[in-house]
Amino acid sequence: MRSIKILHMYADMLDLYGDSGNMEILRYRCRMRGIDCTVDSYSIDSDMPDFSSYDLIYIGGGADLEQQHISADLMKCREGIMKAYKEGVFLFLICGGYQLMGKYYRDADGNEIKGLGLFDYYTVAPSSRRKRCIGNIVIRTEITGKPVEVVGFENHGGQTHDVKTPFGEVLCGNGNCSKSTAEGYTEKNVIATYLHGPCLAKNPEISDYMISYCINRGSEEKTELKALDDSLEKNCRKVMLKRLLSEK
Ligand code: GLN
Repeated sequence: MRSIKILHMYADMLDLYGDSGNMEILRYRCRMRGIDCTVDSYSIDSDMPDFSSYDLIYIGGGADLEQQHISADLMKCREGIMKAYKEGVFLFLICGGYQLMGKYYRDADGNEIKGLGLFDYYTVAPSSRRKRCIGNIVIRTEITGKPVEVVGFENHGGQTHDVKTPFGEVLCGNGNCSKSTAEGYTEKNVIATYLHGPCLAKNPEISDYMISYCINRGSEEKTELKALDDSLEKNCRKVMLKRLLSEK
């Protein structure tokens, strides 16, 4: 079975609410199946990597200040990331990372941080810092081919507009905008979401969708992933779903 190579960008700056834990989960789920999983780091002033040599590029979330700090450096990576995405490298993006792949993010003070413009959406935060979307969130996605209820935690001022292909439908919480019905952005090789948590901890199907995508990319024969015992993860999620959906 082949190995998976991941590039984790700006882990020292964009790592809110356990976002780096997503890498632990991907590593663990690969290790349990005998898949070799390497996670390289990239941050400001690292040597320019060959983005196309990775199977998955991951960027977590961060406060406005961190987003400003990394924005010039991220822009230097634009061409490489764009090329990798077009070649089918998977992009997994959380909150601040999600926002910066769109056209721009305008923060609460009106500062505009240019995004890489890979996708058409844009994000604007209201001028009042009190108006944030904060709390537990449940969405339903069909990315795996079957409906899956995904649980996470959101905390963002940014309201993301013009999303044509959302990651999921909001069952509880806010999503792309305050009280919206749509959450995140997706394509076959993109999951961009506001869900922290870390997102993958309670949602094993989403991890496996990405692992399966990565190991099968470019191969004629589809390798099925060995099933793991996810009873703990699924029971945790069941508790959260019961709590959040019955509160409504
Ligand atoms: N700073 C951005 C916002 O407030 C992103 C926050 C985050 O990554 N949680 O919208």
